[in-house]
Amino acid sequence: MKRIAVLTSGGDAPGMNAAIRAVVRKGVHHGLEVLGVYRGYSGLIQGDFVPFQLGSVGDIIHRGGTILYSARCEEFKTKEGQQKAVEQLKKHGVDGLVVIGGDGSFRGAQKLTAHGFPTVGVPATIDNDIPGTDFTIGFDTAINTVIDAIDKIRDTATSHERTYIIEVMGRDAGDIALWAGLADGAESIIIPEAPFDWDEIVERLNRSNRRGKKHSFIIVAEGVSDGSTVAEEIKRRTGLETRVTVLGHIQRGGSPTAMDRVLASRMGAKAVELLLEGKKDQMVAIQKGDIVGIPFDEAFRMKHQPDLSLYDLAGILAI
Ligand code: ADP
Repeated sequence: MKRIAVLTSGGDAPGMNAAIRAVVRKGVHHGLEVLGVYRGYSGLIQGDFVPFQLGSVGDIIHRGGTILYSARCEEFKTKEGQQKAVEQLKKHGVDGLVVIGGDGSFRGAQKLTAHGFPTVGVPATIDNDIPGTDFTIGFDTAINTVIDAIDKIRDTATSHERTYIIEVMGRDAGDIALWAGLADGAESIIIPEAPFDWDEIVERLNRSNRRGKKHSFIIVAEGVSDGSTVAEEIKRRTGLETRVTVLGHIQRGGSPTAMDRVLASRMGAKAVELLLEGKKDQMVAIQKGDIVGIPFDEAFRMKHQPDLSLYDLAGILAI
């Protein structure tokens, strides 16, 4: 292996830059040439490659987003698109590729491996919804952004003695809602992975009102319901006036936390090691604190499940 390439794809996540830096610097450390590919699979098909040196990734470890830009690319979902990508990789003399991205990007990476091109994935998405890894790059920053926002809303919620519904990201996974809800003492957390019961939500609100609590929070993952639907239902059942905040894309941005920078550095470096070891179809994962490589196939056979003991604990502690 002499020359490798790195790209970022799908939804961006804080810490992607730290992962790019780790891939480039670890690659150079081992005497490899490293190319950056702009705009994910789209840039791969178009041959949008640029040689990276040590200095190309200087001063980015603390920056959110991705210096390589990200894109969604329909053409890459076709066999022809994938063939074009492989041809471009070969034309540029690339021997292995690192894909930094989410679930969808890994499905794409797996297609490249099916075409015989060595590809390794680095999991980066704020949703923490990739099977096989305990955490993804960007999740820690996102939940810290959410709790920072809720702490600010808490001031106004307390002043006006109000109930707030906070809608957070998570189409298929409730991890952001779950962790932020526990970290912020929310009365109720509504996530796709746990059944929810309106009577219980109302009872929790009434209970906290009875003991004189000045504000209440309900955190809802966007995959289950939008905040305004929850607000209407609460009003219909209790008569309580609520306020809704949809945090939206604020959750994707910002400087990565120390946890995400360290995770991204470890995972990016591991991706290069896997390619050097001759692994052709693996994703990097963190399992019980260890950074490991697992075959894409094995990861996709698993299902991501948040730690539901946190859900039970949040329910007990928020009483
Ligand atoms: P994320 O990686 O954040 O989950 P997407 O699901 O949008 O983001 O996927 C990013 C890109 O990965 C898509 O635009 C497409 O180019 C590629 N991709 C996704 N799913 C597949 C698939 N089944 N086959 C080939 N490429 C795919």
